[in-house]
Amino acid sequence: MKKIASFTVDHRTITEGMYISRIDGDVVTYDLRMRKPNQDDLLTHSQMHSLEHLFATFVRNSPLQDKVIYVGPMGCQTGFYLLMRHDNHAENLELVKEVMLAISQYDGEMPGNSEIECGNYRSLDVSEARKTAKRYYEDIKEKTTEDMRYN
Ligand SMILES: [Zn+2]
Repeated sequence: MKKIASFTVDHRTITEGMYISRIDGDVVTYDLRMRKPNQDDLLTHSQMHSLEHLFATFVRNSPLQDKVIYVGPMGCQTGFYLLMRHDNHAENLELVKEVMLAISQYDGEMPGNSEIECGNYRSLDVSEARKTAKRYYEDIKEKTTEDMRYN
C-alpha cells in the first residue's frame, strides 16, 4: 500500500503548534499539535477525552460552527485533528486560540457527562481539559499563518 501523506512528515522535528495537514477539495485538515512527538510527555486519556468534549462543544457553538466537520484526538496522544470546510487559515487559527482560551477559563459543567451521552463518561474532568487548553493556548497564542506549514 502507498504511504499516506501524514507519514511523510518527519515527526522528529515537529513542535507544538497548529499545522495544515492536508486539503481535500474544500476541506482542510489541521493538526493541532499539543505535545512534541515521541516524548514521555503525552496527553493522558482523561486530558484528551475531557478536552474533546469541551473543544467539540465550543467550536460547534462558535461563529464558524457551520464550517466545522470534525474534531477529535490523535491516537498518538500528541494532539487533535480539526477538519474545517473553510480555508481561511488565519480565521481558523484565531478560532482555535479563542476556543482554547475560553476552555482554559471554563468553570461550568462538562457537556455530555453521562452514561447516556458518552462511551466513557467516568474519565471526564473539567480541570484536566482546562489545564490542557491553557498549555496549548500559551503555545499558540503568538503563532501566525506563517507557522502553519510543516517544513
Ligand atoms: Zn465522551
